[in-house]
Amino acid sequence: MVLARRSVVRLGLHVVTACALVPILTVEAKGPDACTDSASESLRNSLHYRNSVADPKQACSHCEFYVQEDNKQCGQCMIMGGPVDPTGHCDSWVVKAHPKERSGDDRGS
Ligand code: SF4
Repeated sequence: MVLARRSVVRLGLHVVTACALVPILTVEAKGPDACTDSASESLRNSLHYRNSVADPKQACSHCEFYVQEDNKQCGQCMIMGGPVDPTGHCDSWVVKAHPKERSGDDRGS
């Protein structure tokens, strides 16, 4: 009888552990839809935002309006005002300016 009680307790611990891990694993396993923002959905639609682009050189990560946050899957877009996928693209894509061009210091180039 003691053995059966231990088995039930052990099974209960497994169930509790599994229930605690499901939300964590679900967040970690988020796919390409992780970089969405319902507040800017109409703007994303009007600018034809998509999570990927055929030419990687025209991805959000190479856009002037893209800001990468440390250790985050998504970056921030100054136009969208929310998270975007680094491999994404929209109609407002502009090539990221060279740091010298941004500061106005183009001496020696
Ligand atoms: S403006 Fe468009 S292409 Fe540029 S970062 Fe934002 S969503 Fe990406």
